[in-house]
Amino acid sequence: MTHPVHTRIDGTLVMIGFGSIGRGTLPLILRHIQLDRSQFTVIEPSDEFAHILAEHGIAHLPLALTADNYASVLRGLFPNGRGFVVNLSVDVDSVELMLLCQELGVQYIDTVVEPWPGFYFGSPLPNADRTNYPLREKVRALGKQFVGGPTAVSCCGANPGMVSWLFKEALLKLAADTGVAADPKTQADWAQLAMTLGVKGVHVAERDTQISAKPKPQGVFVNTWSVDGLLSEGYQPAELGWGTHEKKLPPLGHRFKDGPGYAIWIDRPGADTRVRSWCPDVGPQFGYVVTHNESLSIPDYYTVWDGDRALYRPTCHYAYHPCNDAILSLHEVNGAGQLPEKKHILTVDEIVSGGDDLGVFLYGHAKGAMWYGSRLSIDEARALAPYQNATGMQVTSAVLAAMVWVAENPNAGFVESDEMDHARCLEVQRPYLGRIECHYTDWTPLQNRINRFAEDRDEDDPWQFTNFLAV
Ligand code: NAD
Repeated sequence: MTHPVHTRIDGTLVMIGFGSIGRGTLPLILRHIQLDRSQFTVIEPSDEFAHILAEHGIAHLPLALTADNYASVLRGLFPNGRGFVVNLSVDVDSVELMLLCQELGVQYIDTVVEPWPGFYFGSPLPNADRTNYPLREKVRALGKQFVGGPTAVSCCGANPGMVSWLFKEALLKLAADTGVAADPKTQADWAQLAMTLGVKGVHVAERDTQISAKPKPQGVFVNTWSVDGLLSEGYQPAELGWGTHEKKLPPLGHRFKDGPGYAIWIDRPGADTRVRSWCPDVGPQFGYVVTHNESLSIPDYYTVWDGDRALYRPTCHYAYHPCNDAILSLHEVNGAGQLPEKKHILTVDEIVSGGDDLGVFLYGHAKGAMWYGSRLSIDEARALAPYQNATGMQVTSAVLAAMVWVAENPNAGFVESDEMDHARCLEVQRPYLGRIECHYTDWTPLQNRINRFAEDRDEDDPWQFTNFLAV
């Protein structure tokens, strides 16, 4: 099969981290981006998968980046300031890397704003400061400082990342289906469109149904992507973009004291905060409000301002149902109150069935609710590219799309997925997303109860966060 070459990267390409996402991204880069393999280096402390790099003729630098060595290591790899850094690691500070890349004059992309170790666990910081809000605000402040600098894409995988592109496509579809004229060009146009359509909120609604033939051993944390990544974000406080239609804060909910105030946080771990949500495979389901950058960037991007008053803003948060083994793993960890010692990421060979439905669930508009997203099975993922399961493929193909966009827009400064050309990115990514489907539903979070128990219900507006939150 031949694959379209979308762009080229001149100079050095450095990938940091060769975990589940790094391994899956590698074949997509080699397929779709023209580059000189002798200038491609992967920095990865483990040599478990070094044979894959050797097979493809890619250099492996077997070390862990730290606060002490990252600058000298990267300076050594970019002697003449041309090239690209793809950060797919854990425990390497994204902000420090972004700053260094500006100095070196090289393009940069990551999939989360990652701090050095010590932020996620055992931190002396108060909970409000352990959220993603201050991390994102730091990156946004840098963006104002480096306007027109080498492009640095923050937080672009599947989510955060692709879901921002799908949200735009979903808004256009909803506009077409409800007879609303739409030709948004600017951020303000997009925000206005969401307001005109009456979208009160959006879940990033995901259901991972991938299963292994082998039952999960007790005490082993099993997931379909980074266990460290899920634990890190899952034990930050739950966090969500806070819509202008919301009437009251949830129990233990807090506003942020500083900054533009597009989000709130809840003094509970996201991995133990459930909401009622909806996905096409199963219909109504529970999802976890695990904090994510898109829960912040989307409400910020889609705010309509009247002077300094927010006239419109959608509520936005992740409603994540990970694979069954991860649900059971979280249950064990929440019960034990301790991080697991043993961790395992299910490989494409172990998974026997299932897939990943990952989309945006827009609610409160003229058609009630709509799920729009990618439905990718393990069999489709297996046939599309090596080294990855369905969850990974949605992420790695978004990384590829973002890399292509960056190569085509090398001096855009700091950007998030909401600010990229969603049509171009999805054009590159679409062949790897299985079926992109749109489902309307008349479901609301007030429906379906097995017996009635006391709960905080708002019967006047089904789309209040109060009704979604399961306490
Ligand atoms: P993983 O745990 O499989 O791999 C992480 C890799 O980073 C490991 O191979 C590890 O050895 C390496 N690493 C650890 N410390 C390092 C250091 N100091 N220097 C260099 N490398 C180091 O994780 P993954 O599933 O590949 O995910 C990678 C990153 O992508 C994580 O931060 C994760 O949260 C993020 N992610 C984002 C999305 C998204 O949609 N935005 C989705 C999945 C994963």
